[in-house]
Amino acid sequence: MISFEQALDIVMSTSFRTGTETISYTDALNRVLAGNISSDMDLPPFKKSTVDGFACRKTDLGNDLEILETVPAGNWPSKTIGCNQCSRIMTGAPVPDGADCVIMVEDTEMLPSGLVRFRSSFKKENIAYKGEDVRKGELVLRAGKMIRPQDIAVMASVGHIEITVSKMPRVAVISSGSELVEPNIIPGISQIRNSNASQLMAQIKRAGGSGKYYGIAADDEAQTLSIVEKAISENDMVLVTGGVSMGDFDFIPSVLEQAGVKILFTRIAVQPGKPTTFGLHSRSVIFGLPGNPVSSFIQFEVLVRPLLLKMMDCEWRPLIINMPMNEKFIRRFADRMAFIPVKITDDASVSPVEYHGSAHISALPEADGVISMPVGRQIFEKGEIVSVRQI
Ligand code: AMP
Ligand code: MG
Repeated sequence: MISFEQALDIVMSTSFRTGTETISYTDALNRVLAGNISSDMDLPPFKKSTVDGFACRKTDLGNDLEILETVPAGNWPSKTIGCNQCSRIMTGAPVPDGADCVIMVEDTEMLPSGLVRFRSSFKKENIAYKGEDVRKGELVLRAGKMIRPQDIAVMASVGHIEITVSKMPRVAVISSGSELVEPNIIPGISQIRNSNASQLMAQIKRAGGSGKYYGIAADDEAQTLSIVEKAISENDMVLVTGGVSMGDFDFIPSVLEQAGVKILFTRIAVQPGKPTTFGLHSRSVIFGLPGNPVSSFIQFEVLVRPLLLKMMDCEWRPLIINMPMNEKFIRRFADRMAFIPVKITDDASVSPVEYHGSAHISALPEADGVISMPVGRQIFEKGEIVSVRQI
């Protein structure tokens, strides 16, 4: 049995990459940027007002000012501001030549004479200068980034409407187990509903992959082999759940070998997820995940997801937050690294959720993250700082 760190090293040394394609920036959400993006212009592109008010000279603020014109956003000023003059100006409009500040309309008073008077003390210029946010040619988005809505706004503002991204890994999901029925069926007395497949499909989607479900394989070697071979030939990654333990019908490692997979490990010293299996085929990478839904969920997050993102050359790190335990946590055995589902309380401390083991599927919706307890440790003390990894 290898350590979790060794397993992660083996998985992450896989050299497979998905290649790139060009798409519209509007389709970019959750895709991984494959090339740097630079700005085609200064931002802001001109000196602009950040408020609705009057553009004038600071030296004239004690005087009543003559209004020359109104400059709406989208128009260019036609008048230069001179001594004791101003122009009415809207947020986002270009500041006229001669003006060095914009006073807010809320700080002014219109006089019956038609002049305007400043009724406050000077606080700030309320001007955004050309290029103060971004210079023409400056790098605005770096390759390797998983694209979020705020990145799409930057692409839009620099006119980068076609982007090169990594292709999404094609990931097959196979559920194995003769006791499984699909969720629309009422299970018979010895059956359970298949919850892993839909959970994994959602995890793949969230991680930026493209999932394809291949159905339930009964605990039958020949049937499982034919589904696995088809999945390997059509995908970059194959995830099989169930059938990796020590039971009489746990055929997956043998099926994988028959399918030409070179198995790199079949046991990790982790809890949950000990029987997690990993192998390489010339066409794709294969994980055999344990059948219990909590195990397959957590092993996907800690082992599969990092590789899926690496296949896209994504510079991703899980979000990890350090926080104090709000109660003592004890476990009996310390021979494996444990991932413990926890929730973050309202007072920003960490509380393990009620968790009866790797089949306890309703424990995970309560959890905000997992904390990991290393091999050899049995206790987290109340108040001890632990690292919560978001799930
Ligand atoms: P196995 O890894 O095949 O020994 O399965 C371990 C446990 O997980 C057994 O109780 C199975 O019934 C259960 N299990 C296996 N596959 C699934 C699945 N797709 N959805 C829900 N539970 C499963
Ligand atoms: Mg089974």
